Amino acid sequence: MKTKFLQIGNFLRNNKQFIYSIALMVVIPSVIIFNTWLFSQSFKDTVDQSLRDKAVGISQSINISLADSLDSPEKLQKYVTNWKSYASNAKLIDEKYENDVTALDIFYRDNENFKLVASFDEDKVGQSYDSMAYVIAWNSNWPSAQKIIDHSNNNYYWLVVSPLTDSLGEKKALLVITLSANAMDAVLSVALTRSYLVLIFSVIVIILLLLANSRLFEHAMLYNKIKEIDAMKDDFISMASHELRTPVTVIRGYVTMLIEDAQKLSIKEEALQYLSVIKTSTERLSNLIEDLLNVSRIEQGRMKIDSHPTDAWIMVESVTNQFMVQAKEKNIILSCTKEAELKSIIDIDKDRFEQVLINIIGNAIKYTPSGTVEVKVKSKDNSFFVMVKDSGIGMTAKEREHLFEKFYRVRNAKTDAIVGTGLGLWITRQIIELMKGTISVDSMEGVGSLFTLEFPLSKTEDKAV
Ligand code: ADP
Repeated sequence: MKTKFLQIGNFLRNNKQFIYSIALMVVIPSVIIFNTWLFSQSFKDTVDQSLRDKAVGISQSINISLADSLDSPEKLQKYVTNWKSYASNAKLIDEKYENDVTALDIFYRDNENFKLVASFDEDKVGQSYDSMAYVIAWNSNWPSAQKIIDHSNNNYYWLVVSPLTDSLGEKKALLVITLSANAMDAVLSVALTRSYLVLIFSVIVIILLLLANSRLFEHAMLYNKIKEIDAMKDDFISMASHELRTPVTVIRGYVTMLIEDAQKLSIKEEALQYLSVIKTSTERLSNLIEDLLNVSRIEQGRMKIDSHPTDAWIMVESVTNQFMVQAKEKNIILSCTKEAELKSIIDIDKDRFEQVLINIIGNAIKYTPSGTVEVKVKSKDNSFFVMVKDSGIGMTAKEREHLFEKFYRVRNAKTDAIVGTGLGLWITRQIIELMKGTISVDSMEGVGSLFTLEFPLSKTEDKAV
């Protein structure tokens, strides 16, 4: 468990973008929630203000309409009874506010009290009331607006109390109206529901992102682990090959010495045969070690390529000649030719280019039971080509697809007896590409193969090394 946490800790330290994305995932919903809250608050304030203004506006319009009727309670009651239809006809109020004017009362001052002379609720007409708000509005001669919250149902309304004056400006009555916020509340709750929906949708998207990211997180951890194991494997191969190389070289040296000095050392014919078997096996082992070392050098980016302008034709000819004896032993006619007009200076590392040629020409001889191996060189445009064509076992199109993969060997009756590691062509292609060249193959099963190497001609005017 502890190591898991340590792993996660290390991973986060090396992959800061995960911390950023997780932080973003927390910050984005928080910002949306805060924004929604801020919006609802400011919306509420705006609604409140406009409701208050509306209530005050209604009282003023009533005052104007009643200026000449204030002395007659009957006229006042008639007006109040019909107010809703007057109001909507005269477009004094919006239809949606009509039902929100829940009370419209007109009082006369009656000694210390206020006597109701006209109301929506006609049964209450004639009753006397005593209210601080009424007194303040009456005495100050100025309308007062008060926000009243009904805690039983959480509704609120505006209570507007304003003195009514006749056309001469004399204060005659007191108007009290209440405007409920129900309609506005409905509008507000629709707006809030919408913004909460947006919030929920965003949070769902973010949670999905988080889930995807956690999977990504697992994959990244796994990827790092695989990379670590791969590096460990490379280190192991590199170390093991180095450690093996010295004893194998010593064995090979002594076996060669024993074979060469067989007579001097009075080694019997039978023992000499055993020694030559040991020598062949040691050579195979040595080749395998060399291949493994090359693979680990390439994979760890340690393969040094020291390119210089070089006359490639000379090298091709020389390497082909090295194989003449081997070819003759197998009854293979090995030839090496060049085109008349040849440009053959290319930028290559001599040792590595030799390694490439040995592999390609060596394979052509190895996989040709008898027949011909033709090595041709030519130059065209800005390229130099080496073509190695054999009349050997060839291969199928499917086999050709895997040819340059690590450890790939064609396995059939014809290749059974031929030894190899399946690393040669992979190493060859990597080296060729490091020297800016390409390798391609054309082959037919039972007919033969053609390997073509292409390198850009050297641009430098230097003399070839
Ligand atoms: P190996 O050590 O097996 O020769 P290589 O990587 O050099 O490894 O070659 C991979 C495989 O490609 C060989 O096992 C062989 O089957 C096939 N191959 C390579 N060169 C030729 C060729 N000239 N003709 C037919 N098959 C070939």
